[in-house]
Amino acid sequence: MAADPAMAWVGLGANQGDRVATLRAAQQALGGLPQTRTVVRSSLYSSVPVAAGGPDYVNAVVGLETSLSPAALLMRLQEIEDRHGRVRSFRNAPRTLDLDLLMYGDLLLDTPELTLPHPRAHERAFVLVPLAEVAPELAIPGRGMVRDLLACIVGQAVDRLDE
Ligand code: AMP
Repeated sequence: MAADPAMAWVGLGANQGDRVATLRAAQQALGGLPQTRTVVRSSLYSSVPVAAGGPDYVNAVVGLETSLSPAALLMRLQEIEDRHGRVRSFRNAPRTLDLDLLMYGDLLLDTPELTLPHPRAHERAFVLVPLAEVAPELAIPGRGMVRDLLACIVGQAVDRLDE
């Protein structure tokens, strides 16, 4: 491995097809990435789409220790999305699989391809609820602690799925 490993957090979402099976397969794929190991997985949750219609989402987060660079990891995430038949039609369109790179260590980045931390992670209950399950004291760089951010959110229903 070339670089010291970093802790990266990935948000998973699906609202088309067999959503639970898709998330399980994506979790497996993330753990199988080169130079990467899974540290923690949240439970699965259901959430109502934000700013869009369509079926409810199934969401989760995964914490990865990785020596892939942020750009290489994003590319791998997009490959996994593509393998699950994602078609990028329009913003917030229903999707078989959405993988967001929520954080990469405490890196702050703002390039056309990649913004870190993810610009909307701190205001989305479907990200913060699973994160609060596995890492409530995690700080989202520049935003604050997960537990505190979640306490500020109202009106976004996120329910843990029975598994
Ligand atoms: P979306 O359709 O919401 O999944 O957005 C995908 C696009 O957002 C891709 O073109 C990415 O290059 C870009 N992007 C920027 N920052 C991030 C991030 N932190 N995680 C995932 N995609 C990102």
